[in-house]
Amino acid sequence: MNRSRARVILLNAALGPLDYRVPHGMAVEPGSIVVAPLGPRQLIGVVWEPDRAKAEEVGDNRLRPLLQAYDLPPLPEPLRRLIEWTADYYLAPLASVLRMALASTGALEGARTVTEYRATGRVPDRLTPQRAQALERIGERMGLVRELAIIGGVSDGVIRGLVKSGAIEPIEVALDAPFPDPNPDYDVPALEPAQAEAADALRDAVAAAAFAPVLLDGVTGSGKTEVYFEAIAEALRRGRQTLVLLPEIALTEPFLKRFAARFGVEPVAWHSGLRQSQRRRAWRAIVNGDARVVVGARSSLFLPYARLGLIVVDEAHEASFKQEDGVQYHARDVAVMRARFESIPVVLASATPAIETRHMVETGTYAELKLPDRYGGARLPDMAALDLIQDPPPRGRWLAPALVGELEANLAAAEQSLLFLNRRGYAPLTLCRHCGYRYQCPNCTAWMVEHRFTRRLACHHCGHVMPTPNACIECGEEDSLVACGPGVERIADEVQALFPEARTAIVTSDTIWSPAKAAEFVARMEAGEIDIVIGTQLVTKGYHFPNLTLVGVVDADLGLSGGDLRAAERTFQQIRQVSGRAGRGEKPGRVLVQTHDPSAPVMQALVSGDAEGFYAAETDARHEAAMPPFGRLAAIIVSSEDQAEATEAARMIGRAAPRHDNMAVFGPAPAPLAMLRGRHRIRLLVHAARSVPVQDIIRDWLGGLQFPRGVRVAVDVDPYSFL
Ligand code: ADP
Ligand code: ZN
Repeated sequence: MNRSRARVILLNAALGPLDYRVPHGMAVEPGSIVVAPLGPRQLIGVVWEPDRAKAEEVGDNRLRPLLQAYDLPPLPEPLRRLIEWTADYYLAPLASVLRMALASTGALEGARTVTEYRATGRVPDRLTPQRAQALERIGERMGLVRELAIIGGVSDGVIRGLVKSGAIEPIEVALDAPFPDPNPDYDVPALEPAQAEAADALRDAVAAAAFAPVLLDGVTGSGKTEVYFEAIAEALRRGRQTLVLLPEIALTEPFLKRFAARFGVEPVAWHSGLRQSQRRRAWRAIVNGDARVVVGARSSLFLPYARLGLIVVDEAHEASFKQEDGVQYHARDVAVMRARFESIPVVLASATPAIETRHMVETGTYAELKLPDRYGGARLPDMAALDLIQDPPPRGRWLAPALVGELEANLAAAEQSLLFLNRRGYAPLTLCRHCGYRYQCPNCTAWMVEHRFTRRLACHHCGHVMPTPNACIECGEEDSLVACGPGVERIADEVQALFPEARTAIVTSDTIWSPAKAAEFVARMEAGEIDIVIGTQLVTKGYHFPNLTLVGVVDADLGLSGGDLRAAERTFQQIRQVSGRAGRGEKPGRVLVQTHDPSAPVMQALVSGDAEGFYAAETDARHEAAMPPFGRLAAIIVSSEDQAEATEAARMIGRAAPRHDNMAVFGPAPAPLAMLRGRHRIRLLVHAARSVPVQDIIRDWLGGLQFPRGVRVAVDVDPYSFL
C-alpha cells in the first residue's frame, strides 16, 4: 500500500470511498479511524484496503490531506470483512454498516472526564410546572444536559435554569474507569450429566478457536444458560472476549444479575438505553479488550472487539433479531458470519429453534447439542386447549370459565399466574356507537389503540397519539365511544372485576420501559407481591419464577391471522416460550390455551407436545413451496408521501424486472400496511431458488433506474415482515 495515500470510507451513506493524502508524521493502515475533509466539512471515516473499495482515480497532486488519525487500534480485519459482507448481502451502503461499528464521536476522543449533572434534592426558589416535571422525572438519574432534558421532557434551557438555581449540580465523571474482570471460578455449578456433556463440547470449541456454529437446543428450564456460561468461563480463562446477544433490552437486567451470581461481577451492557458516557466507556473497553463479556442487543454485533473468542445468541429463534429499518439485517445470521470471519464458535441457544436453524443442523452445517429435560426434575407443564366456541366467556369478557376456575384455584393456593396476550393497551379498536366512526391513525393504515391508564389513543406503528375524546370527533355525540376487543389493560380490568383481592401487574413495553423497571418487576414477583401477571411477549422469555404455576394464553389465534410464511411457527414458538414460564420450580405447572380452533395443527402440536411432528409438517410445506430455507425471498418496498409517485415508481420497477430462470417477481401491490408514517407503500416480492444470486440481480435491476427525490426504495433481503 502506498503510504502517502489512503482510501477512506466516510460515514456518509451518499458517498462512495474517497482517496486522501496521508500527511507527513501521520501513519494509517486499513481499519484506522480518521477525520477527513469534505468540502468545508470534516467527516469521520475508516481507512480501507484500496482493492476492496472501488473509488474514482484521482491524481496524487489533487488529493486533500487527512486531518487527523485517532489514537485507537484500527478496526480488526475480520470486522472489516464482516462489514463488507453485510453491506453486500443486505444491499446496504458500506457507510451505514460501518456506522454501527463506531459508537459516537465522543468515544473516539481521548479526554478522560466529562461533566454530567444530577439533582441535588434542593427545591429551586421558583418551581414552575416544567421544572417540577423535570425534577420529578429525572429523579436520581445522571446525564448530560441534553440527556436530562429528554428524560425530563423539557428544553435544555429548563435544565440549565435548574443548574443555576442549584437544584441540579455538575459532577466530573471519570470516563474510562476499567470494568472489573469476571471470575470464571466464582461460583461454578455442579452440572447434570447432559449439561456437563454439552458444556464440555462448548469448552472444546472455545479452546479450538475455530469457526463452529452450534445449536444449543434445550427445553425451557433445561439449563441452557448455565451451560453456555461454562463456554464463557473458558473464553475468560483464555483471555478472549465474549459477546452475548439478547433479543430485547428488557432481558438485560435479569441477565446481568444472573451473570453476576455466576462470575462475581456484572458484564458490560450495550444497548440503546445507555447514557453517552456509558456508551463511550463501554466502547473503549470493547476496543482495547478490557470488556471481557459484553451483553447487548443487535447493535452490539458490529462493535470492534479486540479479542473476540465466542458469540452466544440467546433465544436465537426470536424475530426481534431482525432489524426492520435502516440496514435490514438479521442479527442471528450476521452473528454466524462474524464467527466465521473471526474463526470462533457461535452458540445459538433456543428451546424452539427456527426452521432455518434446524435445517442447518440437518444438513450438517451446524452442530447440535441437546438438553432434553428440565433441570432438577422439574416437569414441563401440562397443556390443554380451551375451545372458545364450546366454552365461551360471558358476553364482553375474554376469559373462559375453565380458565377463571384455574385462576381462582391458584389464588387459593397462593401460587402465581400469568395471562398472556400479545396486545398492548386497552382495546385494539375504538368506534362510535352513534355514527360508527372508527378511530384510525392519520399517518398509517392502522386503528388507534386505546390506552386507558394514560387516557390516550395511540398508533402502535408511528406513535401518533391523541387524548381519548369525550365526544365522538366525527358526530359530536357524547360518551359514545366503544372499545372493541381486548388488550392487556382490559384483561387486567376483567381480572380485577373477578378477583378484587388479587394483586395484579401489567407487563408491557409501556410499563417496563427501562432495565430498572424490569428489575423492580422481578423483585416484586420474587417477593410474592404479585398474584396475576398480565403481559405481552415481554414476559414470555427469560424469567424464572418458581412459584408461577399457571399460564393462560388469552388468544392463541392472534398470531395466525396475518397468515404470513412463519405465522404458525411463530405461534408455536411463542406459546411454547410462555408455557416455559410455568412450573419451573418444584411445583408442577399447567397451561391453558384459549382458541377458536383446537383442531388447527399448531394447537394440536402444542397440546400433544409433538414438536417434531409439527416442525416436520411445517418444513415439508416450506420445501414444497420452495420457501426459505429452501428458496430465497427479497422484498422491495417503495414509498412516498405522494401516492401517485409511489405507484409510478413501483410500476417502473415492475416493468424493469429482469427475467431469470428459477426466479419470479410478484407485484407491485399495495402493502398490507398501505400507509406508514405518512408514506404510501407498495411492495414487490422476489422469490427465487437458492442458487439464484438474488442480490446481484436486484443491484443491477434497481441500479439502472432513476427515482424522484421523494421516493424511497428499500430492499429487505430474507424478509420477516410482510406488512
Ligand atoms: P434455560 O436457559 O434452558 O431456560 P436456565 O439456565 O435458566 O434454563 O435454568 C433453569 C433454572 O435451573 C435456573 O434457575 C438455573 O439456575 C437452574 N439450573 C439449571 N442447571 C443448574 C445446575 N446444574 N445447577 C444449579 N442450578 C441449575
Ligand atoms: Zn400511525
